[in-house]
Amino acid sequence: MTVPPLPVSLSRRRFLELAGRGAVGTALLAGFWPTLAAPARGQATRPDETMLPTPNFSPSQVLRYVAGIRPYRKKSIRLELEPIEGRALVHNYGHGGGGITMAPGCAEEVAQMLAQAGVEPTDVAVLGGGINGMTCAHDLLLLGHRVTIYSDKITPNTTSDVAGGQFGPSFIRFGEGDEAQARADRMMVASYRRYIRLLGDEWGVYERDNYGVGEPHGSLSRLPDGLLPPVKLFDRLPFEGDLRPGYMYRTLLITPPIYMPRLLKEIKSLGGRAVRRKFSSLRSVMKLREKVIVNCLGLGAGKVMDDPAVTPFRGQLVHLKPQDLPYLLIGSGYIFPRPDAVVLGGTMERGVISTRPDKAMCKKILERNRDFFVPSGEASDDS
Ligand SMILES: Cc1cc2nc3c(=O)[nH]c(=O)nc-3n(C[C@H](O)[C@H](O)[C@H](O)COP(=O)(O)OP(=O)(O)OC[C@H]3O[C@@H](n4cnc5c(N)ncnc54)[C@H](O)[C@@H]3O)c2cc1C
Repeated sequence: MTVPPLPVSLSRRRFLELAGRGAVGTALLAGFWPTLAAPARGQATRPDETMLPTPNFSPSQVLRYVAGIRPYRKKSIRLELEPIEGRALVHNYGHGGGGITMAPGCAEEVAQMLAQAGVEPTDVAVLGGGINGMTCAHDLLLLGHRVTIYSDKITPNTTSDVAGGQFGPSFIRFGEGDEAQARADRMMVASYRRYIRLLGDEWGVYERDNYGVGEPHGSLSRLPDGLLPPVKLFDRLPFEGDLRPGYMYRTLLITPPIYMPRLLKEIKSLGGRAVRRKFSSLRSVMKLREKVIVNCLGLGAGKVMDDPAVTPFRGQLVHLKPQDLPYLLIGSGYIFPRPDAVVLGGTMERGVISTRPDKAMCKKILERNRDFFVPSGEASDDS
């Protein structure tokens, strides 16, 4: 049986070609937006009556404090096929703070690498049950492979379950040069297209307006041109009493506590299996019987693959009770209102591997996000 062709992803160049030929309708359907024009400040300032609601930050709203470790890899994610002892070992790890964003695109690259190496549908071992392992398992099952996930933890106990879930490549490196950038763009477009197809409560994927202060910055600038609808600039942000200029772009929010179990259910319905297994080294991996191995061990890849480039970047979050807030906000930290919780975040601690939340720091996260909404000069005593 031959491997069926994978969905074609649009590169930036391909998109511009399509736009030039007037074929943007096709691009639009594919989740790709045609307007590449720079926005003008003050174009679309919201009138006061449509001010956005302020979150309730009172202590009674706090559900929990959470800490997770972003599996960052210096210089670049590792996404390559390594032939080893007559087997194909495909590495897919080091996604830092952008693994939710990149997982579908990376899984498509993995499948492409195997297809290009002439691998016919066979028994595949996927190492790791985070979003990258599960997405690879899912895609390979669809291509006719028989897949077993080997992992010491699975949803809801992986780093992927902890993520905020915004679509944006934060704290992730793709390597240097045009080729690396083109590959990163291709993967981001593929991911975006996949998530757009999964919009809705079943998978916990939503479109959201994301607001920020000042000029557009951060992971937005790393997304391929034209992937998201055009950014809007505001003379003042649409929050009560806020006089700061800012911007808004429409992006995606993926809810890991919904998406992860839904993906596992899908894998099982396709015949995939998940087996509890802990690996201590490459030698222990090589005891597996499968001839094709896909390594999605995240932070664990550092030790198992003896890769010193893997570096932990801890992030801490405060979960508030769910609130009806129809936006995301990058202000003094970030606020991602999801169906399960309002997620407050914005910390990065290099080299810290403890997943025990630091209470003092979590309180700071809450205060910083709350103070974003307090016009300067006003005191607040609700926490
Ligand atoms: C606070 C925080 C906020 C984040 N927010 C976002 C966001 O908004 N958007 C975004 O795109 N990304 C975000 N991320 C990043 C994202 O969570 C990660 O990039 C992503 O989860 C990495 O997925 P993964 O599958 O590669 O790794 P993981 O989810 O860590 O999965 C690795 C798997 O390998 C298994 N494993 C590891 N070592 C071994 C071993 N030795 N033996 C057996 N099994 C092993 C683990 O049990 C696990 O199942 C955030 C991360 C944090 C911490």
